[in-house]
Amino acid sequence: MGRKAVTPTRIRQLRDAQGWSAYELACKLNCTRSYIKSLEGGSLPITHRFAMRFVALERQTYAEAARHKQIKSLYPLPRELKILARPRRCRICREWFIFPHPQQRVCTDPQCCATARQLRAKRARRSRKVTQ
Ligand SMILES: [Zn+2]
Repeated sequence: MGRKAVTPTRIRQLRDAQGWSAYELACKLNCTRSYIKSLEGGSLPITHRFAMRFVALERQTYAEAARHKQIKSLYPLPRELKILARPRRCRICREWFIFPHPQQRVCTDPQCCATARQLRAKRARRSRKVTQ
């Protein structure tokens, strides 16, 4: 993988696999969010300098992921299984989950649920203020 050219798709894939926003990736690569977006959208060319930094980050990230991979399940698991849903991060605690509902973005931890409820209430209050 390291030898192949860095493409917009490859940048996007790393972000998707890690659940990073364009901003988060930009921070790791010491550039701006809009620069990442331009590279992904193909409106700017991927420079050699960027490609080198990107490959180094990618290598380090996948090496770490391979070391720490661990699955915790609420249910007994068969010896072999395929997971067809994409893992996502809880919006609050940032842990990884495969949620039972595709629209779910917060895990079932009581603390996360309470925080998500407070955020929703705050947003609702703010939008009510705007419309008045
Ligand atoms: Zn959570």
